[in-house]
Amino acid sequence: MTTYQHLVGGEWVSSSRTSQNVNPSDTNDIVGDFAEADGEIAHAAIQAARDAFPAWSRSSPQQRFDVLDAAGNTILARKEELGMLLAREEGKILPEAIGEVVRAGQIFKFFAAEALRVGGEIVPSVRPGMTVEVTREAVGVIGMITPWNFPIAIPAWKIAPALAFGNTVVLKPAELVPGCAWEIAKILHEGKLPPGVFNLVMGKGSVVGETLVSSKHVDAISFTGSVKTGRAIGARCFESGKKFQLEMGGKNPMVVLDDADLDNAIASTLNGSFFSTGQRCTASSRLIVTAGIYDKFIEGLIAQMRALRVGHALEKSSQMGPVVDKRQLDQNQMYLQIAKDDGAQIFGGELLDLPTPGFYMAPALAVDTNNAMRINREEVFGPVASVVKAANYEEALALANDTEFGLSAGICTTSLKYAAHFKRNAEAGMIMVNAPTAGVDYHVPFGGRKGSSYGPREQGSYAREFYTTVKTTYINPL
Ligand code: ADP
Repeated sequence: MTTYQHLVGGEWVSSSRTSQNVNPSDTNDIVGDFAEADGEIAHAAIQAARDAFPAWSRSSPQQRFDVLDAAGNTILARKEELGMLLAREEGKILPEAIGEVVRAGQIFKFFAAEALRVGGEIVPSVRPGMTVEVTREAVGVIGMITPWNFPIAIPAWKIAPALAFGNTVVLKPAELVPGCAWEIAKILHEGKLPPGVFNLVMGKGSVVGETLVSSKHVDAISFTGSVKTGRAIGARCFESGKKFQLEMGGKNPMVVLDDADLDNAIASTLNGSFFSTGQRCTASSRLIVTAGIYDKFIEGLIAQMRALRVGHALEKSSQMGPVVDKRQLDQNQMYLQIAKDDGAQIFGGELLDLPTPGFYMAPALAVDTNNAMRINREEVFGPVASVVKAANYEEALALANDTEFGLSAGICTTSLKYAAHFKRNAEAGMIMVNAPTAGVDYHVPFGGRKGSSYGPREQGSYAREFYTTVKTTYINPL
């Protein structure tokens, strides 16, 4: 079996250690052996990015457009094959995986054009004769640390804007899913990106991630992952004076009001809670339902949840794939037990024995919970949602906001009044009306508030806040 290597300074580099990328739908299927770096390789990649920075940060926007647009085209042209790889290494079903690949391609093409749209301002000075220019420049070497749940889209939405604005990059993908990141590296490498502008270093967070965070030669860190790791990284970046951006967890509420369109509410919740096996930071994990629709909604949701076909990610009939690994499967089961011990009634959640050995469980709903229970306070990150009953809209809104997170919040209602009030008063970065809490466009900002996010938004034109630094120049023409 070939070993997939790191990309450092335009060269493929091996390391003495490797790790196996295992298909969670079938643990007999090994996606590949991937090199696992030590600190030395990570340092070499950082140095390569440093060396490449002066030329790349001064390259013409056309050069950056061409590289990124071509990468986007290649990704789109290879969507089936890359989708297959993604489904094999992460476990989301093939149509979702292809959808994610398409999104990555679109992101590259969007940011290709952003390279041409940086712009600036000329402002009259308050001092006679003087003018002021406000321009943007690249930040420097960006270290990127990404999670396993979107193996191609998350690397894409960090790499593309970083390169578009003239930064150089060292990416450390999640240990469980290095395959898609490796393919992006290959596409950029073959797409005439100058050596060292983009570097891929695979390996452990505690080794490679740690080296990126502690290096004096890294100017900024973009992180997506757990709250615990994110907060620790943020503190370290602050100490060493690095710019940083953190996307962390969610405990996203989906409010369903008495006047909701029942079919839409059930379909939106089913999608938000269980699609992608619930492994999305924007998943609807707290369903807050008002009393008048409660019984009908729960009954309909459980019926549709039970009808979801769980199976191998590449099987045509599958509607939900496996959990990503054993550790996550155990965590999901542990939270179901905690909810049960706290008095919840559990529907679904059984471990499933399917024809291929994988990490399969049925989607689960914890009913009769209250918002103080652990199942409603902590992120599970699996196909597990819980239900809290609310007397009315006001109580539902208060419950929705009673969380330390603030990524996405949804409401199902046919009332313009409640929808508008919720949009204004829900404490979240993204609001969804009559739509799943998960599932976002590629050209508008993504991010949250409170414990979910820190720093400027990702994606869309807002991405430039993180990937550029502003310079104010005063010119006295004499
Ligand atoms: P999860 O529990 O979902 O794997 P983590 O926050 O642990 O979430 O992982 C997200 C990313 O952060 C991964 O790429 C992981 O390797 C990396 N990571 C984990 N620990 C550290 C660390 N101490 N320093 C830097 N990166 C880390």
